[in-house]
Amino acid sequence: MSTGPLRDWRTPELRSDVAHSARIYDFFLGGKDNFAADRQAAADIAAVWPSLPVSMRANRQFMRRAIHYLAAEQGVRQFLDLGTGLPTEPNLHQVAQAVHPDARVVYVDNDPLVLAHARALLTGTSEGRISYIDADLHDAETILASPEVGETLDLARPVAVSLFAILQFVTDDEAARAIIRQLMAPLAPGSFLALSTVTADSNPREVTDGIAVYAARGIRERARDRAEVAELFTAAGLELVDPGVRLVHRWRPDEESAALSDAHVQMHGAVARKP
Ligand code: SAH
Repeated sequence: MSTGPLRDWRTPELRSDVAHSARIYDFFLGGKDNFAADRQAAADIAAVWPSLPVSMRANRQFMRRAIHYLAAEQGVRQFLDLGTGLPTEPNLHQVAQAVHPDARVVYVDNDPLVLAHARALLTGTSEGRISYIDADLHDAETILASPEVGETLDLARPVAVSLFAILQFVTDDEAARAIIRQLMAPLAPGSFLALSTVTADSNPREVTDGIAVYAARGIRERARDRAEVAELFTAAGLELVDPGVRLVHRWRPDEESAALSDAHVQMHGAVARKP
């Protein structure tokens, strides 16, 4: 287990007076790692985007199904998760290590509060190995070249990269494509990319109004339609696995997610393979 390398881990800059996306998300998921400013922002957002908490939970369930699929059906044992968020059970490594106890996971996030809670993410099986990197997604090449990645993952073998509920914060399409290109380029054939990101396809009014409230709080987000999400994968030469890009509750649904209505879910998700 290891953490690092970019900031001093004991002195995170916790601006508890400013609303923050990771803590707003934590609040909507029913977590306790949030402050008054986050709860106020969450209330303002939920007033115009009432289905957001349902959508966020559907996203979390998509993470579980996608990671389970990659571990159980594709035999993946190495995971690089960017925009990890605050610990929420089950965490990605718990899903992967339930299938392969020796699965290895590198987590990446740039939020000081996530960093402060990272130790809770680092307790896995004795056979597995987990690292945490405090870094920005835009530094993909630095992340891949980091000692944490070097010590935890074998890049000569397939790795599943995941970007769950983070690319909506990368509002520029060329920047999003560059991040994906840089993350996938050094990986072995048979590696995967799983991602989910905000869409207005299923509920344009709530999402448009909700994004405006986020923007008023200084958090920029961009909704992408289904074709734009598919393009993120195909621009990097990746091949979508069945069923392609779907609202997250429609991607290989289980009984619980199948019961959700489309108007309540504003995330598209997909998994693709590097040929
Ligand atoms: N992947 C988790 C959490 C999503 S919340 C899930 O799907 O449940 C989005 C996370 O992305 C937050 O924790 C936030 O801190 C992180 N994040 C946002 N922008 C980032 C960036 N540029 N670099 C690294 N992490 C970022």
